[in-house]
Amino acid sequence: MLGVDIGTTSTKAVLFTTQGQIVAQHAVEYPLLCTTPGMAEQDPEQIYQAVLAAISTAVSAGGAEFGQIAGQVALVSFSAAMHSVIAVDQDGKLLSNSITWADNRAGAWANRIRDELDGHQIYLRTGTPIHPMSPLCKIMWLRHDQPELFARTARFVGMKEYVLFRLFGAWLVDHSIASATGMFNLQQLDWDQGALRMLGISPAQLSTLVPTTHHLSGLAPAVAQQLGLAPATPFVIGANDGVLSNLGVNAIAPGQVAVTIGTSGAMRTVIDKPLTDPAGRTFCYALTAKHWVVGGPTNNGGSIFHWVREELATAESAAAKNAGQDPYDALTKIAEGVRAGAEGLLFHPYLAGERAPLWNADARGSYFGLATHHGKPHMIRAALEGVIFSLYSILPAVEDLIGPTTHMMATGGFARSPLWRQMMADIFEREVVVPESVESSCLGAAVLGLYALGKVDSLDVIGSMVGSTHRHVPIPENVALYRRLWPIYAAIPKLLEQQYRQLSQFQRETAIGGPV
Ligand code: ADP
Repeated sequence: MLGVDIGTTSTKAVLFTTQGQIVAQHAVEYPLLCTTPGMAEQDPEQIYQAVLAAISTAVSAGGAEFGQIAGQVALVSFSAAMHSVIAVDQDGKLLSNSITWADNRAGAWANRIRDELDGHQIYLRTGTPIHPMSPLCKIMWLRHDQPELFARTARFVGMKEYVLFRLFGAWLVDHSIASATGMFNLQQLDWDQGALRMLGISPAQLSTLVPTTHHLSGLAPAVAQQLGLAPATPFVIGANDGVLSNLGVNAIAPGQVAVTIGTSGAMRTVIDKPLTDPAGRTFCYALTAKHWVVGGPTNNGGSIFHWVREELATAESAAAKNAGQDPYDALTKIAEGVRAGAEGLLFHPYLAGERAPLWNADARGSYFGLATHHGKPHMIRAALEGVIFSLYSILPAVEDLIGPTTHMMATGGFARSPLWRQMMADIFEREVVVPESVESSCLGAAVLGLYALGKVDSLDVIGSMVGSTHRHVPIPENVALYRRLWPIYAAIPKLLEQQYRQLSQFQRETAIGGPV
């Protein structure tokens, strides 16, 4: 089975045995286009070609190792990044690039929808927080800021829809990608009339909704040949990368929470029916009709350690590189020299604004509590702790909604650091397990594919496919220190709301190229 994840930095295709063992894999990268402030676009044609190349290379690598593979691929199943918008004309020709989740240009419209246009009611029906990431806000922005393009657009589609259109000639969107658009009514499993009315678009301008288990076949022979697959190979539409990652790390049972810290981060848990938060702090996205994923994303995950590496500990990082060491490992060692709690130094990591639970694009980062006894090691440690505190602040929102959670699975680049993993156990005050999660979204997609085609009767088969690599239990002395710091940490963003707005406004106005 072939799991294909159309991500923001690359498309990865992983060929698994039906027992979940990796046979072969290939990733093809592509750039993010950021030529004006707030812009984060990608070229859909380039991504389509990357999907073809990733699949064909993974299939041929599997074939090289195991002999003829074309007839043996039981299914192809897709994962994809959420929230992308592409404008196309009547014939499916591109009128725009893919505007990705990271694009912030709909920021002012997100504020207006939230404050003046009953955005909270739309969130309660659709499960997607009102934020510039969402297609809802982006289409509103296009309508008002690029009216000519808006008028010419026959359809607004997402990246996975575009790839499937190129492969099969139909505009289809799965409930999972749809549930992250801000335009999908979670109870009716249909496009939300109120949201579409606000945008001034009709359902005919969006793709046809299908369950995540929907599958299609009948590749054009030339494409099948290019991919190295039999034309009859079933393609399962699949879901979004976030919910599939929960499946891929085997965090789908009640009370299990999956926490990811890659470049950004997220906390997610699976429940059996859609649920939104009266306080608007969490998202709710579909996995299957019986599995819904509730959680919150953070903008500031591993990107913070990257910033520390590049901007704060430049000399230490360069020295590590020169000595042939991983700079992250070297900085982790430096942070280890300081006690838990960084001797009273707190870091709020909102360098890129913050999504859950603040949903405030104007939030800004800060060191708080600096004293003369603090040095760079404290600053490095506080930054790592701040990322975990920030993720921890999502937990009350999730637990208010679904009740107590118990088990925690942690994934993403951060898990390479034993210190950072231990901080998670200490701050969350519970055992943290790191699953074996090589390309969890691809594995999740493949297992959803097995389920979709009736080859297994439950998603629980994932349990036999995922082992664990590390376990950390809380260290009581550290827990005690973090317990004292947590209320201080949590109070800051509430106190500074107005100052965040004023300062980010100042930054926008005085940034190079902006009005002075
Ligand atoms: P992505 O989200 O782009 O797929 P990853 O999951 O690989 O990326 O996460 C990248 C992040 O992982 C980096 O920004 C860094 O913060 C963190 N990271 C990478 N290597 C290490 C390491 N050895 N120790 C601690 N953190 C690391």
